[in-house]
Amino acid sequence: MSAGKLEAELCKWRAAGRRPLLWWRDDDAVAVTPELERLAQITGNANVDVLLAVIPAHVDGGLAEYLAQQDHLKPCLHGWSHENHAPAGEKKCELGHHRELDVVLDEIAAGRQRLSDLFGSGFVPVLVPPWNRMRKDLAARLCEAGIRAFSTFSHKRSHPEIQVNTHVDVMNWKAAGGAAGKATDQVLDELAAALGTSRANGGYPVGVLTHHLVHDEAAWSSLSCLLAYAELEWVPFEEALGHQPRTTS
Ligand SMILES: [Zn+2]
Repeated sequence: MSAGKLEAELCKWRAAGRRPLLWWRDDDAVAVTPELERLAQITGNANVDVLLAVIPAHVDGGLAEYLAQQDHLKPCLHGWSHENHAPAGEKKCELGHHRELDVVLDEIAAGRQRLSDLFGSGFVPVLVPPWNRMRKDLAARLCEAGIRAFSTFSHKRSHPEIQVNTHVDVMNWKAAGGAAGKATDQVLDELAAALGTSRANGGYPVGVLTHHLVHDEAAWSSLSCLLAYAELEWVPFEEALGHQPRTTS
């Protein structure tokens, strides 16, 4: 394994007397599966918190009982049913402009209610829009649906006060033959680049994005490699929110 770019980037953090921070988001949880148990195990062993985006329309009641025993996995809201409302040819989107804003907001409020009934005080009122996209006018209205922050995938943010994004995806969604885990070297290179962008903009935590249900051994292997880096400090979502620069970047 070559980790030259990451080592070079970590050197720059060291020289600046700073520590790179990471945070972890995992999407599409609906039930207790062997893959979720594997995620819980590797992150639990490493003492790393995970913001777990749960699809309310499809959630299985057994997930609440399980998460009550895994308090490092923090359930939050992943849209309503992960249904695409965009027409063919457009990027997939559940919470887009294809329906009235009030309809979308009602759906989010219903999802939040379902998950807070299910998970009680363990529920984190944060929205992860399916496919990491949503209509632009939704962010300012999320508080009306009981949601206090949201998370997508980009270094750019439209709402710095309430937006905590992810930046490194361990999956390649366009691989021939369907989604496949990226090679570890590629993940490390992408992490190095993301840390470089963060370092140049105040040193905010870099978000790692995973989808436990579709991981192959390559994806799991990259994650084990990241967890083995003692220099990378993993912080919970709340801390990542507190570390965000207050300006758009
Ligand atoms: Zn999703």
